[in-house]
Amino acid sequence: MVDLKGQYSKIEKEVNQEVNEVLTSTAYINGPKVHQFQADLEKYLDVKHVIPCGNGTDALQIAMMGLGLQPGDEVITADFTFAATAEVIGLLRLKPVLVDVDPDTFNIDPDVIKKAITPKTKAIVPVHLFGHVADMEAIMEIADEHDLYVVEDNAQAIGADYTYSSGKTQKAGTIGNVGATSFFPSKNLGCYGDGGALFTNDDELAHTLRGVVNHGMYERYHHDVIGVNSRLDSLQAAILGVKLKRLDDFSRARQNAARKYTAKFKSHPLIETPQTKTRKVCDTAECGICDTCDCHVFHQYTLKIKEGKRDQVASHLKDKGIPFGIYYPIPLHRQKAYYDEQVKDDSFPVTNQLAKEVISLPMHTELDDEQIDHIYQEVVKAINA
Ligand SMILES: *Cc1c(COP(=O)(O)O)cnc(C)c1O
Repeated sequence: MVDLKGQYSKIEKEVNQEVNEVLTSTAYINGPKVHQFQADLEKYLDVKHVIPCGNGTDALQIAMMGLGLQPGDEVITADFTFAATAEVIGLLRLKPVLVDVDPDTFNIDPDVIKKAITPKTKAIVPVHLFGHVADMEAIMEIADEHDLYVVEDNAQAIGADYTYSSGKTQKAGTIGNVGATSFFPSKNLGCYGDGGALFTNDDELAHTLRGVVNHGMYERYHHDVIGVNSRLDSLQAAILGVKLKRLDDFSRARQNAARKYTAKFKSHPLIETPQTKTRKVCDTAECGICDTCDCHVFHQYTLKIKEGKRDQVASHLKDKGIPFGIYYPIPLHRQKAYYDEQVKDDSFPVTNQLAKEVISLPMHTELDDEQIDHIYQEVVKAINA
């Protein structure tokens, strides 16, 4: 699915040098490389505060702890996502309120969010799934109106530019009260182990979060709140520094590969290619932003295969040794850990359908035309078989 070796070979010298510097410095935790990466990422994202932490799941949990959410508070998030999002909500004894997604963008649907709001709702967690920024303008409007926090799960969309209807752009993850990301190796900005970060423009919240990641300490050995231990180590920060300089090039490479896949697949009657529109208004003629906007950085390139032929495609690709992923085969509302008998399966027509139709193809910074064509040929062969 990803070619981490191919990418490493292109940056090997620089990465090795950075890693060696950390090894000889012995500043393994909280060293200058961590501070440098934090500052570089703040500049890149144009956000006031980046708080590095241990991984993306921690980042989501720390965001909710920092916002002071209390047991019983309801948090609205997408039914169609990786479990980490709902997991930390449950761990903190908050109540995950899962909602259906938009069939075209796979992202949380603002109209469905509105219907899920109750007096107990405290926050919305949009997930920028597969690298495509959710409809943040509509989500922020709903949040303002109902006085809710917005935590962006930006694990899959770092580097994406969200374009408002006014034409203004802002980096994904810096729009809500707080953004959370992951530097897991296969993510768009991946390190060589685990890593994560939080982003916020709120000075007070940033201060709180910096304490939460460090045992609730704001002054050495004074523990003001219950926190966690979650750190990005210096080796990972040094590697991320090398890759951050190339993140825009990486995003371009992914977008180019996506464009090539789409050009091939789009005329097939049983295949739906991913959409890059950012919001419902993009359906209307006057938008025209989507062809040029970078709201989608293609963490995954995900097709919908119609008429029940998805599994046929999957088994054919498996036979041919072509990697693929089914993200996600089971919607969260049907997972044992998140099952709630008051929640009806038929409230999720879109996620139930997507779970049967989606298939993600190899997507990374090193894909070439020959590989794309080979994958295309085999997918089509499988459907027509
Ligand atoms: C990867 C991912 C996470 C978790 O990140 P980790 O670093 O693996 O903990 C959370 N949410 C989404 C949507 C992800 O894709």
